[in-house]
Amino acid sequence: MPTESTFLLAGLFLLLAAAGWALGRFGERDEENTPPPLNIDYLKGLNFLLNEQTDQALEHFLKMVRVDDRTIETHFALGSLFRRRGEIDRAIRIHQNIIARPDLASEQRDQALFSLAKDYLRAGLLDRAEKLFDRLSQGSRYQVEALEQLCRIYEQEHEWQKAIDAGQKLEVLSGRSLELQIAHYYCELAEMAAAKKDYAAARAFVKKAQSGRSRTQRGALTRADIARDTGDTRTALRLYHRIIDDNTYLITEALPRLVETYAYEGAEDQLERSVDSLLKKNPELKKEIAYTAIVNDIGGIGVIDRCVEEYMLSEPTLAEFIDLQNIEQEDAADRAAALQRVRAALSKMAAVTPRYQCKECGFSSKTLLWQCPSCKAWESQRPFDHVQFDSLLQRSSAAV
Ligand SMILES: [Zn+2]
Repeated sequence: MPTESTFLLAGLFLLLAAAGWALGRFGERDEENTPPPLNIDYLKGLNFLLNEQTDQALEHFLKMVRVDDRTIETHFALGSLFRRRGEIDRAIRIHQNIIARPDLASEQRDQALFSLAKDYLRAGLLDRAEKLFDRLSQGSRYQVEALEQLCRIYEQEHEWQKAIDAGQKLEVLSGRSLELQIAHYYCELAEMAAAKKDYAAARAFVKKAQSGRSRTQRGALTRADIARDTGDTRTALRLYHRIIDDNTYLITEALPRLVETYAYEGAEDQLERSVDSLLKKNPELKKEIAYTAIVNDIGGIGVIDRCVEEYMLSEPTLAEFIDLQNIEQEDAADRAAALQRVRAALSKMAAVTPRYQCKECGFSSKTLLWQCPSCKAWESQRPFDHVQFDSLLQRSSAAV
């Protein structure tokens, strides 16, 4: 079967024929009045193609059509076409061939290096791509693109300090603020240091993440986690409370940690009181607290249980599943048991459903991901709200 690249090269040979290559109009012989014979090189190339020997045809093309000012664009076009089709080895061969030309203008050399770096990236040869982008980032018209690519590579390799350096250079060159992105790089470093129990370094990195007009909520959460892990419960609780008080979307992460920390301290009474006073100040948080409690299966805390109950009874979709009339008439114990059954079912369903969704591209996941694996945006995920239960219940009722 002829491959796509066979057709591609065949098209190129046709174009060459139209331009006079087949008749040997280019090259050394150009005598007038003698009918030119068919170019032997050209015929050889066609023969390879007819035998579906694409690599040989390509090699032949590269030998036959030297890189010069007239043909360089054709070489570039062929290279990027191969890359787009996923035939990376061939794209690499073409771009290396361009670079090998000794008298290449510096702009064309940069273009070829940039193309080759993209080939390497596509082939997963990150260290080779990194070297070339790094060279281009030192001074070329691809500086900004090269730095952007370097940031992506360092993110993939978890080389956060290098990512910070590249990001800061990029800010200067592009005039764009990368504050959020760089704050996350520092948070990554902080989490790595904390994992190695180097808490002093971890705290220093969080401080850097939070300096300036940082817009990330992650710094506060990381700082609270470090305090919790180093036994500074008071600070940890204060910070988890602050995240929840500020009514940020991170309540879904902070509330379970808060409950855990109070429980660890054996201070459930204090938890009751603090959530109670929080709800007096911000009654609109009831729904978020209920949702978070259901998806994280937090139970046995009076004030939170009441939020969950209220939520279940006020949800129109859930009302179809809970017989409200009967529930109200039942005695307290039966009522509690019925609600408990519904709640347990919801928690089970929530456990197998994505909880977070990227607001940029819609990618969803069960755990919070600071960088979206799909569109690479930072801190673009938000928790689903109750709407998810609608689709869950629809799905489960459709399955019945
Ligand atoms: Zn995304």
